[in-house]
Amino acid sequence: MPTRLLSSIGISLFVLICSLSTANPVNGQRKQARSVRTTSARTSNNQISRIVGEVDARNIEKTIRKLVSFGTRNTLSEQDNPIRGIGAARDWLFAEFSKVAEQSGGRMTVEKQSFLQAKAARVPEPTMLTNIVATLKGTQPESEARTYVVSGHYDSMCASPTDAKCDAPGGNDDASGTAAVLEMARVMAKYKFEATIIFMTVAGEEQGLLGSTYFAEQAKQKHTDIEAMFTNDIIGSSLGGNGVHDPVTVRVFSEGVPSNETVEEATTRRGVGGENDSTSRQLARFIKETAQRYVSRMRVMMVYRRDRYLRGGDHIPFLERGFAAVRFTEPNENYQHQHQNVRVEKGVQYGDLPEYDDFNYIANVARVNAACLAALALAPARPKNVAVVTARLTNDTDLKWDANKEPDLAGYEIVWRDTTSPVWSNSRFVAKVTSYTAKGMSKDNYFFGVRAVDLQGNRSPVSFPHPVR
Ligand SMILES: [Zn+2]
Repeated sequence: MPTRLLSSIGISLFVLICSLSTANPVNGQRKQARSVRTTSARTSNNQISRIVGEVDARNIEKTIRKLVSFGTRNTLSEQDNPIRGIGAARDWLFAEFSKVAEQSGGRMTVEKQSFLQAKAARVPEPTMLTNIVATLKGTQPESEARTYVVSGHYDSMCASPTDAKCDAPGGNDDASGTAAVLEMARVMAKYKFEATIIFMTVAGEEQGLLGSTYFAEQAKQKHTDIEAMFTNDIIGSSLGGNGVHDPVTVRVFSEGVPSNETVEEATTRRGVGGENDSTSRQLARFIKETAQRYVSRMRVMMVYRRDRYLRGGDHIPFLERGFAAVRFTEPNENYQHQHQNVRVEKGVQYGDLPEYDDFNYIANVARVNAACLAALALAPARPKNVAVVTARLTNDTDLKWDANKEPDLAGYEIVWRDTTSPVWSNSRFVAKVTSYTAKGMSKDNYFFGVRAVDLQGNRSPVSFPHPVR
């Protein structure tokens, strides 16, 4: 292997080879795995590196200050006042995304997705809600239907979700996520991706995830192939209410047991031990791996939960409809600055003010998001109908899957890990086949998965197999 390749994959390859020789107990396989690993060496994709480099904290700051300047963005606030209320924020965001779309060579379209929300727990009378949806169309015919969604909510609240008059700056919750999405759209609109990316800012989050629920339900009814959804909500501060300053960590919440699991699927999951291997959990692992490669200054802290303890976010309506989805959030929240009326009490400042944002930190979280979205949309689809064939009792593991349809497909990688490992620790390239037998490796002792690889070395997230006879 040339030295420059070795250095580009660096320590991770070394660690992987070491882990291969300890984790794979089968004599004779060690050599095969090692030789294969050299051909599947990880190189960085230049386009992704450029995207990461172009994200600019100054744009994020400008967007946040503009959103805060509308006074309140409560979903129930004024819709026809050009300087105050959610309507002003909606129109400004639509104009900004439309400017971004002009740089896309016609590949990005921007839409106001409006709907009349009926009376609900936090909606005292029927109210028009509007999501801003910017769609960057994929360029590969075999992949353009495959869609990745990144979202933030542009509505805000003070202490009461139905107080439409109070000042609700929402500088962190969730101007931070909204600004990150707009900046990603600005940077990425100029680039081509094989699959489609939707950059979205939604309303009604604080009223019960209403904007995201509408979008997810429409997507389900239209059979949109959403392969992954990211919500960025409260990604604004590196300083927690606990006094911890941590500008290098972002939490990624992913559920282990699918929100839409059927009784039959639960029975299978218990039978194979799949409670840590939902599509959302595979997505979180993909994010952790991709961030390590492209935004190495940041640490993705995977949290094995759907969301914060008993709390919710815009990814949940997607999960409930069977789409893989995760939530990005700062490592330590400050509750004096969240869902509070702006005030000083006993010398303490309350309220979600922009001075508590760390714009460089938000830019880094945006870089993690952008790198992962780009990696997903440049890679082949994750393999479908991946199965462990259980026709015989054996110490081998027989895997099969459907062939991918991308013309630039190079093949597949079998991945595996110990059952107690949080991440995939080993992989083996197997070219363009649709079945593979891991000889002498029992499915009782490892978790297996399959991912697709293209000729440029872009890898899909891992698909976890289900059992078939
Ligand atoms: Zn929020």
